Amino acid sequence: MISLKKYMKLKYLIVAVISLAFFLSVIVSTYFSYQGNVKFMEEQALENNRVYALKLSETIDQFIGDTKRVMRYSAAEIGEDFNNMETLQQEVNRLYSQENTFSSVVVVDANANILVNAPQNLGLVGSKVTSNEGLDVLKRRTAYITNPYMSPTGREIILLSMPVYNKEGIFKGVVNGTIYLHESDIFEMVLGRHPYENGSYVYVVDTNGKIIYHPDKARLGENVSQNEVVENLIKEKSGAKEIVNSLDQPMLAGYSSTERTRWGIVVQTPYDEAINAVGKQVSEVFARGLPFILLSTIFVFILATRIVRPLQSMAEIAGNSAQEQEMNKLKDIRAWYFEVFNIREALIQSFSILHGQVNTLKEESSTDPLTKLLNRRTFDKIIHLWTEQQKPYTLVILDVDYFKKVNDSYGHTIGDEVLQFIASKLKEVVDEEDLACRYGGEEFILLLSEETVGNAYSRLEALRKEISRLISPTGEVITFSAGIANYPLHGDQPKIILEKADAALYEAKKNGRNRVEVTNA
Ligand code: GH3
Ligand code: MG
Ligand code: MG
Repeated sequence: MISLKKYMKLKYLIVAVISLAFFLSVIVSTYFSYQGNVKFMEEQALENNRVYALKLSETIDQFIGDTKRVMRYSAAEIGEDFNNMETLQQEVNRLYSQENTFSSVVVVDANANILVNAPQNLGLVGSKVTSNEGLDVLKRRTAYITNPYMSPTGREIILLSMPVYNKEGIFKGVVNGTIYLHESDIFEMVLGRHPYENGSYVYVVDTNGKIIYHPDKARLGENVSQNEVVENLIKEKSGAKEIVNSLDQPMLAGYSSTERTRWGIVVQTPYDEAINAVGKQVSEVFARGLPFILLSTIFVFILATRIVRPLQSMAEIAGNSAQEQEMNKLKDIRAWYFEVFNIREALIQSFSILHGQVNTLKEESSTDPLTKLLNRRTFDKIIHLWTEQQKPYTLVILDVDYFKKVNDSYGHTIGDEVLQFIASKLKEVVDEEDLACRYGGEEFILLLSEETVGNAYSRLEALRKEISRLISPTGEVITFSAGIANYPLHGDQPKIILEKADAALYEAKKNGRNRVEVTNA
């Protein structure tokens, strides 16, 4: 026996295949939409940061411009009364406190002597400027902003310097404002007050690529000129670029340099943070689509069931192909698509051929080929069945008279025809519930259901008389003799009934043939 368990059911196969296709298409489309969104978000973050860096550089330019104006005004005031220390002190105090920009303010004369300082307790008055940057601005005699440098007091500073001329236009010295990188809030005020989302931050580098502002103060003064963006900035470019920062994090950076100081402003967002939203977006879309996916799966399942049902039914019927009633089931199958219709028709056709063959075989095994009456085997089965069921019957055993002579005189073929002639007459006398069989040679048996002995006798007499009046295939009259016995009247076993009917037949022969006798036992 073949194990059917290892064969997958078509329904699940179809559902699996469709679901797989469906899932793959969802995954592929999700993947591409994710990719598309990532690209879009990347570009957007870069552009946002570029624009923002540009705006910040403008803000710084604006701030520097304002500061210069204020310093220029103070320098003019100081120049008018350069020898009055009170005026000088007043101006540096004003610059120091009003603008809130400077960490300290000093006035230096042309010989590098520090004349006044603010805050007043700075203790520089009377000393000389020694730093290169401090001496440099005295030589320049123009408004100037230095890069950061280490001051003699040990601070990282930026110097904003404005020359002082008197009314006659003679150079008298400079007003210097300093910004202590580590202590000043000025960049924080200009750059840091904007709230940054998703981990974005700003830093500023000077023309040498040295950090002059960074939210992480520890990095102030660090030289980052190797950074690609800073390289671009030093070349005075502006734009946006995807880079890897010093912590090996991928970053989306926008950059721009200031007009006046050539400082570089870099605004950058961690790549992962910028893209994060896309993942959320995609999973949101997926979550919203989930009910539809489920609904579609249910729909697919129902459809698959409908497609498969007729095939399934046919598979079951084909498994029981020997049974004739399966044919009707087959005809009931709804063939709603082409293949099923074809298979169904083919099955119906092969079933009817099969059933025809089975019926022929059955008939052949139960009938006598010459006379088409039931054969002895079938008769034996039925008489036993009827006796078991205690179904009353009358048994008639017939034997053709002088049949040897027929064979001898006319040949075997005519003999056969005589047997067929008798058989056809027997068929005429039996009812639907009765049976006629060829018991052997030229002996026949009638099994008359529910028939009384008297009626059976009358029917046989009528038949005997009819045949004895007819011309048989020999061209002459042929006759038979018969013996009758009844169940349960004459016995309770088929064997006894047969013996008694046979004995009655023997009586009929003995009494001159062409006779019907009922058992007398
Ligand atoms: P009786 O009146 O006593 O019955 O005489 P009978 O000649 O009929 O004797 P019996 O019943 O003994 O004869 C049977 C003969 O039937 C023997 C055999 O040659 C013939 N026979 C048996 N089967 C067939 C058959 O199938 N075809 C033909 N043609 N003859 C058969
Ligand atoms: Mg005989
Ligand atoms: Mg005979």
